Amino acid sequence: MKELTIETYSRDETHDLGRRIAQAAKPGMVFLLDGDLGAGKTTLTQGIAMGLGIKRNVTSPTFNILKIYHGTMPLYHIDAYRLEGVHQDLGFDEFLDDGGLTVIEWSEYVPQLVPPCHMTITIELLEENSRRFTFHVEGEEYEKLLEELK
Ligand code: ADP
Ligand code: MG
Repeated sequence: MKELTIETYSRDETHDLGRRIAQAAKPGMVFLLDGDLGAGKTTLTQGIAMGLGIKRNVTSPTFNILKIYHGTMPLYHIDAYRLEGVHQDLGFDEFLDDGGLTVIEWSEYVPQLVPPCHMTITIELLEENSRRFTFHVEGEEYEKLLEELK
């Protein structure tokens, strides 16, 4: 299975979905979050942080393109929104390691950070409080993760 769709009807349900992703994820996994402003990319990331036992509030790293949170494993949260048209080596590779989870918002602006195996989560805004999450995976480990999310 390479694709799965899940809908949520509140922010809390999206937090729960993020928790489940974090609990089933393996160190080194990379998640690309696609969707318009306000879709719920940061909200899903908050849930992933909760699943890793991170107590600090996760916000959009608007001024810091990369934020690192320490939980049961590190969470690397990248929001590349402000990097549109910036084609330079950011040196992030030095910070990201395969012992943690990496979540990237606006990954199209940082293609150099996207490994061949990853999970893409596309978020669509359906109504004020409902969202559709479509998961696409590349790689066997990610297919297993998708099975667990069903
Ligand atoms: P993005 O990072 O994609 O720009 P945010 O996560 O910052 O989006 O914002 C999503 C907004 O939508 C938040 O204010 C959140 O409370 C609200 N919201 C309402 N319903 C949902 C839902 N089902 N899932 C996620 N967010 C929701
Ligand atoms: Mg955001």
